[in-house]
Amino acid sequence: MQKREILIYAYEYTNFYHEKYNNIDLDAPWEEFPVTTKQEIAHGGLSVVSSQYFSKLGGSDIISDYTSGSTGEYMETYTTKAEQKKSMLSLWLYRKKYYGIDTSSKLCYFFTFHRGGERSEFEYRKNGLGISKEFLTEDNLEEIFEEIYRFEPQWMLLQPSVAMILARYLFETGTEPIPSLKYIELSGEMFTEQQGNFIGRAFQVLVASQYGCNEMGTIAYQCPCGSLHVMEHNVHVEILNNGHPVEEEEDGNIIVTAKNNLVMPLVKYNTGDIGRFRKVQCKCGNRGAVIQLKGARKDDLVMMDDGTAISASFFHRVFQEVQWGIEGRIFQYRVEQEEIDVFVVSVATDEEQGKIESLFCQSIKTTRLSHATFQFRYYRYLLPEKQTGKLKFFICNAGKD
Ligand SMILES: [Zn+2]
Repeated sequence: MQKREILIYAYEYTNFYHEKYNNIDLDAPWEEFPVTTKQEIAHGGLSVVSSQYFSKLGGSDIISDYTSGSTGEYMETYTTKAEQKKSMLSLWLYRKKYYGIDTSSKLCYFFTFHRGGERSEFEYRKNGLGISKEFLTEDNLEEIFEEIYRFEPQWMLLQPSVAMILARYLFETGTEPIPSLKYIELSGEMFTEQQGNFIGRAFQVLVASQYGCNEMGTIAYQCPCGSLHVMEHNVHVEILNNGHPVEEEEDGNIIVTAKNNLVMPLVKYNTGDIGRFRKVQCKCGNRGAVIQLKGARKDDLVMMDDGTAISASFFHRVFQEVQWGIEGRIFQYRVEQEEIDVFVVSVATDEEQGKIESLFCQSIKTTRLSHATFQFRYYRYLLPEKQTGKLKFFICNAGKD
């Protein structure tokens, strides 16, 4: 379906979009339709579900799921098996084409428990080995790897923070990489190029980034040339600033219209991510537009003492500068703003602590946070947070009780 057809469908079959677009001519230019926020959808209840599917709710055709955002807020999503299959189709085609992976390939992944349920460390499925993120601690790494070797996966679907912990285990213990493994797909969190390279080298396999969200599946997928291509069979992507499209190579909000969601249409849906269209013609043959993510989300904001806020993404630059100045490695980092002028910096590194701190402070001096206090804490690993199952690189607690 084309984006306009999806919009008209959403208007005709959901109360939410009917109200949202009530005062707009359906033939009006695309730009005139307002963006839909995650919060609107999360609070929309059944008004965001197509009335065509009301009678099927609760039946076996409809799959509903709770997904948690990076803020920990829950959203209920609805889809059908057929829609899910359609939304995954092009991802599977490219997995096969680029990395030789198909639905029969043996997969290893990590899972989070959101709601009750029986807890166990491992879950075994046809072609799949799942490992609980709660079980992922330093003490259990040897057992986890034994289980992975025994299972002989061909590929792994991992969050970057989890992949970093596993990669370090291989790197630091000198353990042989998994012989059966040929590919790792990273998804669910931002990661730096250095982290991606480190994971690829430790496992000695190809690594690709898959960018998506639970609400609509894959938005973009990285080809072997390193470009993150928009999955145009599944989504229509626009990058907007104050509602207007930005130029190529200019950052804006990533707004997505889902092409395979009629049960719960998502039209001009703000992903909360920031990125840009790249001006590149990729050699891989995929003509899909190439995007680049900024490495910080829209709500990753540092509060300043004058009431303004700046993107936390500059911490990536600060840590990049620290990395350039040391022999060792910064494996992971997280910054928490506790008060306007007080930050807690958590680092997993094999470098001398004093060296990290002096380089960090040197780099911070050139930023607007030159007067702030930074408290450093060192951990062997930074593990995903229990509630969301993800690891955020920046958290602002300032101004919250
Ligand atoms: Zn490409």
